[in-house]
Amino acid sequence: MAENMTFLPKKELLTLEELDRLCSTFIRLGVEKLRITGGEPLVRRDIMKFFQKMSRHLDSGALKELTLTTNGSQLERFAGDLYAAGVRRVNVSLDTLDDQKFADVTRWGRLTQVLRGIDAAQAAGLRVKLNAVALKGFNEPELFQMTEWCASRDMDLTWIEVMPMGDLGNEDRLDQYWSLKDLRRQLAERYTLTDLTERTGGPARYVRIEETGQKIGFITPLTHNFCESCNRVRLTCTGELFMCLGQEDRADLRAPLRASEDDALLEQAIRDAITLKPKGHDFDYSRQTVAGQMTRHMSHTGG
Ligand code: SF4
Repeated sequence: MAENMTFLPKKELLTLEELDRLCSTFIRLGVEKLRITGGEPLVRRDIMKFFQKMSRHLDSGALKELTLTTNGSQLERFAGDLYAAGVRRVNVSLDTLDDQKFADVTRWGRLTQVLRGIDAAQAAGLRVKLNAVALKGFNEPELFQMTEWCASRDMDLTWIEVMPMGDLGNEDRLDQYWSLKDLRRQLAERYTLTDLTERTGGPARYVRIEETGQKIGFITPLTHNFCESCNRVRLTCTGELFMCLGQEDRADLRAPLRASEDDALLEQAIRDAITLKPKGHDFDYSRQTVAGQMTRHMSHTGG
């Protein structure tokens, strides 16, 4: 998040009960996977009640997976509860293993707190995958250290190309941009990489490092986007449905949700919104300038 964020008045936020009703409606309409995101989802008061209630859909078989993306700062506290609620996999966003760099990039975060969270998650039986944004001049020097550390912890690692989200200017974004084509080339100089056909319906593509057996993921919105097979939409904590991370198209689901007790209006609003799902993003750095920039912060919808 930026230093000077303005937070929304509480009444604009959907309550956990409303989020439950909304998610349950999506599940009834055929959604099989739910990823809980933030900002940081585990700082929301009573969030465990939401996970516990959502687990009824795992028990019924309607929901195939309930998972989350977290910065790991609260995992030590909630790992066991998450596992008890039916979560089996968790993505942890971590761009560096260097204490000082971590403190700098998170402004006051403590890497040790996140590492203890990962320990607790693995001890609770959760499969942990690391998500790292590839940042030129920042974590490029740590490529092999992060790869080997994940291998030693039996964790998969996904690298993500930096996207033009939020109010960072052209220069900063271009300076940070490290193409995953180059990252992969560096890995291939040291390891034997085997392409995997595995697909999650998401934008990631995977290779296996034969020497360590670990899986490395690549999310490449700039060098090669996979929007044509995209099957995800994002719901904000105020009930806005974004049909694409890289576009401003949205639908307000809070109004139909609060307009009536039954879900007929809500279901229709969801069906209408899905028909408006854009083909994909317009992110482009190829002309040494940033195209497709989104003023919306990544923290508004989560990854
Ligand atoms: S940019 Fe939009 S269409 Fe492309 S993968 Fe992401 S959400 Fe899907």
